[in-house]
Amino acid sequence: MLHPTEPAAPGPLTETQARDVLLALCWPDGQKFCPRCNTPSPYQLAGGRLRCGGCRYTFHDFTGRWLNETGLSPLKWMALAQAFTRELNTRETAARIGISYNTAFKALTALRLAILAQGADAPQMLAPGAPLSVFLDGGEPEEQAQVSGTGLPVYGILNRSQRLFVDLLPELTAESVLHFNHNFHLRVARHGSILITDRYKTYDALILCGDETLPYHYLLRHPGLIFAESGGSPFWDFAKPRLKQFKGLSWRRFPLYLKELALRFNLRGHDLTPTLLGALCAPVPKLA
Ligand SMILES: [Zn+2]
Repeated sequence: MLHPTEPAAPGPLTETQARDVLLALCWPDGQKFCPRCNTPSPYQLAGGRLRCGGCRYTFHDFTGRWLNETGLSPLKWMALAQAFTRELNTRETAARIGISYNTAFKALTALRLAILAQGADAPQMLAPGAPLSVFLDGGEPEEQAQVSGTGLPVYGILNRSQRLFVDLLPELTAESVLHFNHNFHLRVARHGSILITDRYKTYDALILCGDETLPYHYLLRHPGLIFAESGGSPFWDFAKPRLKQFKGLSWRRFPLYLKELALRFNLRGHDLTPTLLGALCAPVPKLA
């Protein structure tokens, strides 16, 4: 069996080898357990299925993992992770792997959710009723949009010990940013639908993605540059041109891209693929 931390053997992997790599990431010590009640040592059934001796739940090796969210094979998931590492866009990824644009879009969304789910603030973003819960419910985000304009979420960008963090700030909304801008002279720069501020408390910047109902005209211009655009934030220098490349940037997808860019920034100069595969093999959090 190929171990994921060992360099890949020369030549393309087979589907079986790819599956072994992902299995080792899902079950690091080989000990399987029920994804529903965590009872160990499920029975092996025909067709590779497993059954829990505790709750009788029938599952398979990838049940409850992010990579189970679409119908991609292990080999295609690995190719998708490699395409993502190389920053191919959705269309290029679809062409390289030989899947439809829609399938690539869904798989890339699952990958971005898997990255986001590793953050400490994931429960606040993915729990029922939270802005991103629609991605877990399988619903149509447009139909379930409950917040807009001044109620939209705000994120803080923070550099600590050589590591970049992007955190959801649940106590703030777009309205807070407009308020700070008006009443406390907080500088705000606008890039399309994205607003980024000067330093705020311990954060290098606050950042948000507005929608068409956000009153951008309400922003006041204060003299001088924001910290992030005066050489203060290598992350913003890295993220700004990349954010422009994302098609259909919306406030709801915005944190997916922010978390992706934070990961890319923190691992720049390293191969992203092992981290991506690890995230895909992690269990989808149960937040209900
Ligand atoms: Zn069980």
